[in-house]
Amino acid sequence: MTSEQDADLIVVGGGPAGVMAGLLFARAGCEVRIFEKHADFFRDFRGDTVHPSTMEILDQLGMLERFLQRPHNKVDKAELRLAGREWTIGDLSHLHTPAPFIAMMPQWEFLDFLRVEAKAFPAFTSRWRRRSKALLRSRAGWLASD
Ligand SMILES: Cc1cc2nc3c(=O)[nH]c(=O)nc-3n(C[C@H](O)[C@H](O)[C@H](O)COP(=O)(O)OP(=O)(O)OC[C@H]3O[C@@H](n4cnc5c(N)ncnc54)[C@H](O)[C@@H]3O)c2cc1C
Repeated sequence: MTSEQDADLIVVGGGPAGVMAGLLFARAGCEVRIFEKHADFFRDFRGDTVHPSTMEILDQLGMLERFLQRPHNKVDKAELRLAGREWTIGDLSHLHTPAPFIAMMPQWEFLDFLRVEAKAFPAFTSRWRRRSKALLRSRAGWLASD
């Protein structure tokens, strides 16, 4: 049992949802602890596309420029060769959004980016190799059973 008496919030799971939620709560001034059962972000393949809607949110949070400094490839069109002709079957370049393309970036790189951004907030703490079975609230604060 781990006591996190000074935490306002414990997030179990350091995937995209957990790390982003932790970042947003820490940004709003909550003391956040993230418990992740793995030791790092290197997992089974979890995709490598970061979409324009995600980057729009990063832009609103003032993080887009730094995100785009991470290694990535840009894809703004999908083309298909059929019956000897090239067809454009998708074109994102017309979107009215700060990043009208798909950024090809492995999920571990994206998660590492979010973790670095979140660590700028002193209220954010991530704890690795911490598998939680249950969370209990006591008078002393949050308790995590592992
Ligand atoms: C093969 C594949 C390809 C994909 N490709 C893309 C793509 O290209 N683009 C895209 O946007 N999305 C893609 N996705 C989807 C994307 O990976 C998921 O939408 C995203 O990972 C969901 O995030 P999450 O934080 O909700 O869950 P998860 O990523 O599953 O994160 C949950 C986290 O919780 C941890 N955890 C679980 N139980 C406990 C516990 N008891 N205690 C502590 N920690 C725990 C896990 O270790 C994990 O890190 C793909 C998914 C797969 C499987």
